Amino acid sequence: MDLVKQHVTRAREAFDEGITKPRTWRLEQLRALDALLRENENLIAHALKEDLGKHPTETFLTETSLVRAEIKHTIKHLKRWLAPSYVKPSLAVAPATAYTVLEPLGVVLIIAPWNYPLQLVLAPLVGALAAGNAAVIKPSELAPETSRLLASLIPAYLDERAVKVVEGGVPETTALLEQKFDHIFYTGNARVARIVMAAAARNLTPVTLELGGKSPVYVDGSVDVKVTAQRIVWGKFINAGQTCVAPDYVLVSQDVEAELVEQLIAAVQDLYGHDIEHNTHYGRLINDAHFDRIVGLMGPENGRIVVGGEHNKTHKYVGPTVLVDVPHTAPLMSEEIFGPLLPVLPVADEDEAISIITSKEKPLSLYVFSEQKHVRKKFLQDTSSGAVTFGLPIAHLAIPDLPFGGVGESGVGAYHGKRSIEVFSHEKAVVSKPLSPDTLALVYPPFHPKKLGIVRKLLG
Ligand code: NAD
Repeated sequence: MDLVKQHVTRAREAFDEGITKPRTWRLEQLRALDALLRENENLIAHALKEDLGKHPTETFLTETSLVRAEIKHTIKHLKRWLAPSYVKPSLAVAPATAYTVLEPLGVVLIIAPWNYPLQLVLAPLVGALAAGNAAVIKPSELAPETSRLLASLIPAYLDERAVKVVEGGVPETTALLEQKFDHIFYTGNARVARIVMAAAARNLTPVTLELGGKSPVYVDGSVDVKVTAQRIVWGKFINAGQTCVAPDYVLVSQDVEAELVEQLIAAVQDLYGHDIEHNTHYGRLINDAHFDRIVGLMGPENGRIVVGGEHNKTHKYVGPTVLVDVPHTAPLMSEEIFGPLLPVLPVADEDEAISIITSKEKPLSLYVFSEQKHVRKKFLQDTSSGAVTFGLPIAHLAIPDLPFGGVGESGVGAYHGKRSIEVFSHEKAVVSKPLSPDTLALVYPPFHPKKLGIVRKLLG
């Protein structure tokens, strides 16, 4: 584990030497990262195909283009985001100038998961570099081809003094967590998040925890059920359901349950055809352990399969699967599914849906399909989640000016766009007050009722 320590020490030296602070360095790094993505599209597509069976178009849409959009947006706005932000000084200290500046934190650690193994390393890195930090990156060992590729490309494109990649699994992550960082940005599951937060606490290191959970969908009879079904199927089965914001389960008002189920079945066929096992537009599960877990969630105690259910361990293939008659107590309803199984449960109305949703941990996203204003308002007011969308599953994360993050069990903190810069910066308060006139003379001892009278008047 000497290498881990060495990487962190070198990154710290680079930061202390001031290499990462100039805006020109930051912009150079962002442009180099963009070139990395542009010039290696085929290698990236190949790695993602190997790790997750992703189609190159899906890799483009959900990995590279998202990071490139984040880079473009950051380059465009960085100067403005880094400009001092002036505030009105209180009368107590006037005349004075008061403002804040964003300063880099130092050396940050980025720990990424396997499901979007490129995007979830590089999107936080955009913010870390744009904010002027040195960074140590730990890609997921469960997506080995992408991890290897990042470990070879990043030193070739980015400033090797300040950006380090550590490959490996639990021992390497554990060794990293023993080092002192100025921020830890972790994406993954809530169990490991607790390990990360406990390790961070030893050094009072701030953390961002991008986690998951069961993101619900609500559908009522006021919507176009066909389009709704297509959007749900798209959002659910992209990356074979291995998306942190994938629709996890559907609560449907019982008057449209039959129609929705029928349209979900049709949408699976429309989007993926009939021979899905051999369809390269549909992804694969990450490994045998996840395959076994997902297949284990298809037993009769989890309801009745109306489409899908077929699986083949050789290809780590599980077809897009919709289940009905799912008991609320089924294993499928108690853990994040994180795979291509979609339970559909009827509810009387939005109130029952809300009481089911609020009886569980706060989700990362909540998707409401209803044209009724009062229904939308109820979901907004009576539930808590990282995000709420109306009519649009998963794609809210492609809007860089929106915060992307969870609440409660689904995460701590948020990033994307300007918020990424804020995550990886300290907002420093600055005040400048002229020595003359010396208005503070009014508050210096000895105290006097006359002076107090003036101060009281001034402070209102
Ligand atoms: P994972 O198994 O790849 O783990 C993530 C990282 O944690 C890896 O780099 C791994 O090396 C490290 N790790 C694993 N065990 C560890 C331990 N004992 N000690 C220290 N480090 C350890 O990925 P995962 O956790 O299976 O990812 C899936 C989860 O991530 C899901 O819950 C999903 O919802 C969530 N997720 C959230 C987001 C988001 O942006 N909010 C994005 C993707 C995934």
